[in-house]
This record gives sequence, C-alpha cells and structure tokens, in this order.
Amino acid sequence: MAEKHFKYVILGGGVSAGYAAREFSKHGLQPGELALISKEAVAPYERPALSKAYLFPEGTARLPGFHCCVGGGGERLLPEWYSEKGIELVLSTEIVKADLFSKSLTSAAGEIFKFDNLIIATGSTVIKLTDFGVKGADAKNIFYLREIDDADKLVEVIKAKKNGKAVVVGGGYIGLELSAALKINDLDVNMVYPEPWCMPRLFTADIAKFYEGYYTNKGINIIKGTVAVGFGSNDNGEVKEVHLKDGRVLEADIVVVGVGGRPLTTLFKGQVDEEKGGIKTDAFFKTSVPDVYAVGDVATFPMKLYGDIRRVEHVDHARKSAEQAVKAIKASEEGKSIEEYDYLPYFYSRSFDLSWQFYGDNVGETVVFGDNDPASSPHKFGTYWVKDGKVIGAFLESGTPEENKAIAKVARVQPAAESLNQLSKEGLGFASKI
Ligand code: FAD
Repeated sequence: MAEKHFKYVILGGGVSAGYAAREFSKHGLQPGELALISKEAVAPYERPALSKAYLFPEGTARLPGFHCCVGGGGERLLPEWYSEKGIELVLSTEIVKADLFSKSLTSAAGEIFKFDNLIIATGSTVIKLTDFGVKGADAKNIFYLREIDDADKLVEVIKAKKNGKAVVVGGGYIGLELSAALKINDLDVNMVYPEPWCMPRLFTADIAKFYEGYYTNKGINIIKGTVAVGFGSNDNGEVKEVHLKDGRVLEADIVVVGVGGRPLTTLFKGQVDEEKGGIKTDAFFKTSVPDVYAVGDVATFPMKLYGDIRRVEHVDHARKSAEQAVKAIKASEEGKSIEEYDYLPYFYSRSFDLSWQFYGDNVGETVVFGDNDPASSPHKFGTYWVKDGKVIGAFLESGTPEENKAIAKVARVQPAAESLNQLSKEGLGFASKI
C-alpha cells in the first residue's frame, strides 16, 4: 500500500488546521514538507459560518468565501494556495489508525502517512440522541451540525420544508443560532431545553432573560425544563413528532439537535496522556509523546491567567493554539524558545441583529449594566463577573469594536471593583477607563 513521508503532518482540516498551515508557511516551507489530512472534502474553512450566514436565505455564505483565515482577519487560503506553497492537501481521507510511537497514520483506504512531527487537530464530533438510545432518534430529517456536509443537508431540507415546523433541541449557542436561522427561513420554530434558561454555562439568568424575551418576540416558542424523549415518524421514516418528557407532543418537519460535542481523541487512546476529556499539553501544545502536538478543541492546556488547565471549544482558541504550536515547533528546530501560551478566553455568537462577546472567566458575583429589556432598542447591555474584589469576566451585547476591546482589557487586567453597585452605575464607563 502507498506510503508517504512528511516532515510535518496536520491531522484534521478545520479551523486549527488552516491557521497552522498558514503559520508554517509564514516560517518558510520547502515543497513536500507539510501534509494536511482531512476527512472533509474541502480545504479548511471558518466553521462558525455554518450555523450563521451559511443558512441564511439572503446574503448566504458559500465556499470559497469563508475559507480560513478570513475569520481572523487574514488572507483567504483557497485550495490553490496549498498547492502553490507545496503543501499536500489530502482531502476526503479519514485516518482510522494512529501509531504515535512509530510515527505513522493509516487512512480508511489503507494509505500510510509517516511523519516527523504531528499536530493533532481533529476537533470535536456532535453528541447524538441515538447515543442515549432516544426512541425514534434515527428518523429522517433529524439533523446535527458540525461539518459542511451536515450544513448542506440542512439547507436542502429547509428548502424542501418551506413554511414547515421545526424543533430545535438544545439551548446552547448552536441551538440559539440555529433557531434564529430557521426562523429567518420562515419556519415555525419551537426550542426545547431542560435547563431553567438558555446557555446556562455562560449566561446568568439576567443575560438569558434578554435573549429569551427577544426570541419570543421574534415568534420562537421556547419550552424549558423538559427534554425530548422520543420521536414519531411517517411511513417514509421522516420525523413528524417530538415527544417531550412532560407529556407534550410537538409537530415537526425538521428537528435540529445541538446538545454538545465530544473531542475526537479515540485514535490516540492509551498512547498519550489525557486530562479533562482532552489530550493533555503543555503551554506549547506539546503532548506527552515527543514530536506530537494537539491544538484546538482536543487540547487540554495550561490556562496561565487562572493557574489551572482547561479545554476550550471556541474558534479564537483554535486559531491561536494552532499558531502557538507551529511557532513552538519552528523555535525548537532553531534551538530557540518562545513565550508560554497566555490565553484570555474569548467567545462570541451572533443571531438576528444581535451579537455578543465574552472575555475572561465567568465565576464569582455578577452585575448587569445597561438596558437588558428585550423590547428596548438599541440592545446594549452587559455583565461583569467579580471575584475577590476584582473584575475577571465581561460580557457585552451589541458592542462597538472599541467597546469590545475595552471589555477584553478589563478581563485581562482584572481591575479592582469598588462595589457591585458602582460597577452597575458606571457600566461601560468602567471598562473605558482601564
Ligand atoms: P474543527 O474545526 O472541528 O476541525 C476538525 C477537523 O478534523 C475536521 O475537518 C474533521 O473532519 C477532521 N477530522 C477529525 N477526525 C479526523 C480523522 N480521523 N481523519 C481525518 N480528519 C479528521 N466558536 C466560537 O467561538 N464562536 C462561534 O460562533 C462558533 N460557532 C460554531 C458553529 C458551529 C456550527 C460549530 C460546529 C462550531 C462553532 N464554534 C464556534 C466552535 C469552533 O468552530 C470550534 O471550536 C473550532 O472549529 C475548533 O477547531 P478545530 O480545528 O479544533 O476543530
């Protein structure tokens, strides 16, 4: 069987992979040194677009428009870019076996890829309702969204079920973005989640109140405190009903499920140290195996700012961790050292005409500032998180670039706060002084 050897292999073709390839090229690559292996059929792209403009009826995003690295404000790496740089873009190729010690990867078709240095960038896969044995969860028109093929299937069915009924299972950011996209496509949308409010891992009750109110005003029906326990389908096997634990039955032509992800680490089980569900790395994304790095969603890395280790499933970290790993590889070749990764957590989401950003850590007491009444306009409000007298996290809806920069600075600097009352009164003014 065919065997190829590369100095560097990036395993994965998502966000981290694209940014890693660009970083290698910045440092100077010889043709044939780098291969990027992906099971997707397209060159790396900015995954967040799939739950946003990719699904819009107007102003729709399509490739090649959102190939990496446009999301980070960089150049767009078209498939031709890889060939011009002498990078082997190995697409539609799933790696089914990895032997980290003999430095070898095997594809489903039996091809062997040998490497000197490996960057694991396999990202996450979706958690499926079939994983929990939910009755009828294998019916047609029940969708999950991770890769571009999933998004294409969803686009098709949105067209086919025009003016139909959609149920979104899950109240995280994917659930919120997908509900908005389905509504914009004129579907009748029900959202179902078990928690007392949406995005409970980040949002406070006060933040969630705004989004739930706003969504309700847009005509989205939110059902909280219960879960989907089964699905009914018609003779063609297409989903028609969602059965809720509280006994209610919702009609559905489309169901979209967003109940979380799971890092794709199975290939490396028993070969590399793991922690918190991911592959354990140091501040340079080096794993416990020599010459093997892990970046993006799969990496559990030291969070210098908070003195602990974490895994982060967000695009900003995917980009930055990839760049850090490549810089570390190149520096070690030259006998140099680089600074440790010092990440400030940054998440964002967009739906309808809303757009929020969050920086820092969401622990401690919270205080709201601005007007979080969903009926008011403009929708500008935020929240600070205060721990041990210091502001360590900040959230802002509808911020300008300058305002977002200011809240990022607050989360990085962690200034002392006089009192929650004072913070609430000063609002954004507090951030702009820092
Ligand atoms: P991915 O981008 O998932 O890339 C992994 C790649 O590895 C894929 O190409 C996959 O096919 C490939 N792969 C996996 N296993 C194999 C194998 N065995 N063989 C070959 N190839 C393999 N984050 C935000 O901060 N804000 C957002 O608004 C936001 N929106 C999102 C919307 C959607 C729909 C999704 C799915 C995610 C969103 N995210 C968002 C999260 C963000 O996209 C991820 O954190 C980021 O893509 C992680 O990058 P990654 O390179 O680690 O993984």
